[in-house]
Amino acid sequence: MRQLEECTLMVIRWSFSSITDTFTLVYASTFNSNDFGSESILPTDAISRDREKGWVVEDGKRLITFRLMTFQSFENRLISLVGDEVSKMILYQMGNEIGRVAYDYSREAIKSESDLGPVLDSILSDRGWGRCGVFVKETRDGEITFTVQATGTPSSHERTSVKPTCDIESGIASGFLEAYFGKKAHSHSELACVSTRSLYCMFETTFNQ
Ligand SMILES: [Zn+2]
Repeated sequence: MRQLEECTLMVIRWSFSSITDTFTLVYASTFNSNDFGSESILPTDAISRDREKGWVVEDGKRLITFRLMTFQSFENRLISLVGDEVSKMILYQMGNEIGRVAYDYSREAIKSESDLGPVLDSILSDRGWGRCGVFVKETRDGEITFTVQATGTPSSHERTSVKPTCDIESGIASGFLEAYFGKKAHSHSELACVSTRSLYCMFETTFNQ
């Protein structure tokens, strides 16, 4: 893992000048989304159905479910209603709230900064949102930047686009970090996206020191 982090840092520094096809290949060869294994850190009960009430239940709590294509049609409808810019902001804020709530219910599993990636990965994979890697931290010019790589995000599933499409997922990563550090990020972006033919998505969140 240590070797992976060092290699990841090196490649991310490279990415600040430009994200190229070569970068994509090199980065992909250093990252394995299954580094955290297939066991969930946060124990979850089996999902069951109460047909009489019309409920889906896990651990005594009600869930609602819908197909991934329905989720993407929600996103598409929002984009067509309010445009690219506003929809990005709304989707990011929705994700940000999801990230904060996810942190709240998993905080006991987070003993140190290095647990953030594995715990978020556990939450995402339990919920069908794909996998994420470790958060890579870099401090410079009074700013602390965290980058994290993800695969299998719902917003990039079987999508092609000229711009990154994972605004909700970007918000989840930032919201999770914001909740942990107890402060708002001053910027965020999606540096690479499966929708734009990258092999992974990569989210960046920056805080003032
Ligand atoms: Zn993406």
